[in-house]
Amino acid sequence: SKCGPDGEWNKGELEPFGPLKLSPSAGILNYGQGIFEGLKAYKTEDDRVLLFRPEENAMRMIVGADRLCMPTLPVNLFVQAVKQTVLANKRWIPPPGKGSLYIRPILMGSGAVLGLAPAPEYTFVIFVAPVGNYFKEGLAPIHLKVENTYHRAAPGGTGGVKTVGNYASVLKTQLNAKKHGFSDVLYLDAVENKYLEEVSSCNIFLVEGNKLATPQLKGTILPGITRKSVIELAKSRGYEVEERPVSVDELRSADEVFCTGTAVVISPVGSIVLEGDRLEYANKGVGKVSQELYAALTSIQMGKAADTMGWTKEI
Ligand code: PMP
Repeated sequence: SKCGPDGEWNKGELEPFGPLKLSPSAGILNYGQGIFEGLKAYKTEDDRVLLFRPEENAMRMIVGADRLCMPTLPVNLFVQAVKQTVLANKRWIPPPGKGSLYIRPILMGSGAVLGLAPAPEYTFVIFVAPVGNYFKEGLAPIHLKVENTYHRAAPGGTGGVKTVGNYASVLKTQLNAKKHGFSDVLYLDAVENKYLEEVSSCNIFLVEGNKLATPQLKGTILPGITRKSVIELAKSRGYEVEERPVSVDELRSADEVFCTGTAVVISPVGSIVLEGDRLEYANKGVGKVSQELYAALTSIQMGKAADTMGWTKEI
């Protein structure tokens, strides 16, 4: 059943980047009633601006809004607002090959509440920032550590939606891993501590021969739009793709491992530390399959290849 209230959205406005005015008893500040999205705009050689599957972000936000008892934002309103914000900031989009404009929409309970309840009012904001590579390694392989103590999400929780609270539990483990020279942390399931879930901000794929495997969506990992796109792309290129429980032991036999996400795009994994063992992939280089899928995906995103999938939206 639908949880969020219905109501009217006011017409949005473009404002200079700056602090928001928010009640100290706003739902987002007290009860984490906030969800966000992340997508990118690319500038092409012929000066077009492309968004990558923005309707998917809009639909994921609708699912998240309902999980947190927030009103939903219609897909066309979301896409229109993204488009307007990006076009107003066109001068900040890096030139082709130099990065992209990262777009961060946030839907929050902004109305005042005291007792635990959904907020009476909601605010939707979007900010943008030019970005380069997410990991300092760029397309060079990243290094992960399997996390055995902390978990990112539990069954029945909010791991499957992009709510602000999911990231609170990640901050400490991610920082600790970075202090020890890792790029990020690979989380396991909270029940058996045995199955792969995802990395702090991206999904994970294992490659063995012609087969790709990625953890199935069961409410504890984020349904990544890059994940979905890579599955479709890999299948169209003749790979077999399995969405299923992936045991941590499979890390020992994989040929290649890579992560997918809007920010990380496709990041090859060079090594993973698992119970004291350092597992290495693709001779610590960029694996053949990761390289192929990276090239295929980014050439669509950047408008360098024909968009046979119909994924980009010119604005
Ligand atoms: N998992 C988590 C926890 C994330 O924060 C993200 C980034 N949104 C992803 C996976 C990848 O999702 P997407 O491909 O839609 O960016």
